[in-house]
Amino acid sequence: MTLEDYKKKRRFGISPEPSGKTSREKSQHPNLLYVVQKHRATQLHYDFRLEWHGTLLSWAVPKGPSLDPSVKRLAMQVEDHPVEYAEFEGVIPAGEYGGGTVMVWDNGTWEPEVEDVDAAIQKGDLKFTLRGKKLKGSWVLVRTHGYGRSSGKSWLLIKHRDQYASTGEITIEEPRSISSKRLLADIARDGGGDVEKATTGDPAAKSAKKKLAPAVKSAPKSPKRRKPTT
Ligand code: MN
Repeated sequence: MTLEDYKKKRRFGISPEPSGKTSREKSQHPNLLYVVQKHRATQLHYDFRLEWHGTLLSWAVPKGPSLDPSVKRLAMQVEDHPVEYAEFEGVIPAGEYGGGTVMVWDNGTWEPEVEDVDAAIQKGDLKFTLRGKKLKGSWVLVRTHGYGRSSGKSWLLIKHRDQYASTGEITIEEPRSISSKRLLADIARDGGGDVEKATTGDPAAKSAKKKLAPAVKSAPKSPKRRKPTT
């Protein structure tokens, strides 16, 4: 998928996302970029991106990455994104393509564990090492058998067993932006976005709600609702 698909879907006069005008010279940046952007769009997902041939190969991972090697996370390949997208954090206006809040959840560099990356992608089995702040060590993206519209776009993101494997839920334990330390709600507030919607993507807020619920129940506000005592 080319950058043209990326450009076709977006109105850059309205969305603050980068238009992808500039391309990166490989020689200036020997390290290949890696980024995960947490995106509270229609559905919450994590956009997993690897720089290759001057663009960012991109997969949308609905549940986000897992450090547990026994867990396979669905990763739907989406259109390539321009390299400067890796730094985008902010609000895509409602009604625009991908409308919602975007957070730079993790970033760093990646290195292929295979000789021929293009052949590996073609084959649907790409092994690589991540050098991020949250995600590290050996991983694999494996193409799986999708059907209908998802045919050929459906992959699985899996952690390999190494010193960085863990059973902890990294998405819950480390919910903040790696570049600004903000939660989705903070980014939405700062960017004039939908704070309430963004908050539903922040795990801390979810657990706070859960904690609040019983307290509200046990303290009836209206005497009318109180059951008569005998
Ligand atoms: Mn997305």
